[in-house]
Parts: sequence; structure tokens; C-alpha cells
Amino acid sequence: MTGQTRRILIVEDEAQTRSVVEAYLEREGYWVTGVGNGEQALEAFGAHTYDGVILDLNLPGLPGEVVCRRIRDVSDVPIIMLTAKGAEEERIAGLDLGADDYLVKPFSPRELVARLRALLRRAKAETEPQRSRVEYGPLEIDLAGHKVFVDGEEAELTASEYKLLTTLSRYPGRVYSRMELVEKVLGYDFEGYERAIDSHIKNLRAKLGDDPKEPRFIHTVFGVGYRFESPVEAQ
Ligand code: CA
Repeated sequence: MTGQTRRILIVEDEAQTRSVVEAYLEREGYWVTGVGNGEQALEAFGAHTYDGVILDLNLPGLPGEVVCRRIRDVSDVPIIMLTAKGAEEERIAGLDLGADDYLVKPFSPRELVARLRALLRRAKAETEPQRSRVEYGPLEIDLAGHKVFVDGEEAELTASEYKLLTTLSRYPGRVYSRMELVEKVLGYDFEGYERAIDSHIKNLRAKLGDDPKEPRFIHTVFGVGYRFESPVEAQ
């Protein structure tokens, strides 16, 4: 990923949970500020720029809902809400208040890190300037018109195939796992759908005239997933 250190604010009054999460995030290379209540959270948020916020809903003093709303009033920063087990209403409230995701306690710190990473990636992609047309040698993508051309001929892609192609080609050379592609392209994350990605890839390759044995564009990374290569850059 990028060499830039991401700054994360964690708001949690339970010291043990907070320090476990802090330790995990620091090990992942994040720069972490941990605070124990909402007042300190808003103070820290006002004083520094953060790339992500992990916010416990159940806080002493200023409630997590209020903290979330105040942050949302001034920022689009990704927020992950921590909620009590089974508190369905709390979760819904959290998402209504503008949180991007939530985790139910007790949660696995590894899952938290994975969700945070996915959110940060999405946030970054959304802020990048949009080009209307990109070219990778014989492959041309008209992003404004949602059209794809190979050797000057239009390839008729389904919505999922188009999303798959634009996702992969956004970062040539980057390897995407099937699971990641399921999440990005199909919009949900369920293990059984990894095979669906394989069949979308198969159809996409057929439409692009891409031979899996000698791919021009979409390369299989065995045991992991796929990556896109621009024929121009590869030369
Ligand atoms: Ca709490």
C-alpha cells in the first residue's frame, strides 16, 4: 500500500479493549490515538486530521451517537462503530447516524483491522480524480460512457463484468483475491460467491479475446486471485 502513515482515532472507555485494538493497529503500521470518552474524542478530532475513526457507541458522558453525528457534521472520515452484542437497534442507529460499518462485541481485532483497511481503501478510491477515458494498449475504457473497446471493437460487457474490469485495471499489477473482488464487484462478502468471480472472469476474458494461457490483460495468480496488466507497461 502507500508509504503514508494512516492516523486512526479510537474512542473506547473499556481500557482493555482499547489497548488490544491499539496494539493491533500499531502493529499494522497505523498511527493511533486512543481516548476514553466522547469529549476527548471531539477534542482530538478537532486538533488533528484522521483517516479513520473507531467509535464505541456506549460511552460514559457524551454518547457515541452524538460523537458520531458531530464528526459527520464536519467530516466524511470512515467511521466504524462498536456496539454491544445483540443490540440490533443500536447498530441501525449507528448506520443511520452516518457510521460506515459496525462490529458487535466481542469482535476479533483481526476482523476490525480487515474492515478498517477495506473502508480506507474505498475512501481513497472515492477521492481520486475520475478520468473519463483510459487506455491500456489495445484496450480502451470509456469510463463516462461505460463502454469498453478492444482493438477498436466494442466489447459488450454486463454490469458485473464491467465493474470487474474497471476494478482490476484501476491498479495494474496489483493482485486481487477472489474474496476482495466479490466484495468490490458483487457488493457482498460471502465465501460461496468466490466461484461466481471465476465465471465472470471467464466470460470477461472471452469478450476481451484474452487467452487465459497467454493473457494480454487479465492474469491468474494461482491460489490467490487475479491481476490486470497493461500490455503497454509490460513491454
Ligand atoms: Ca463502552
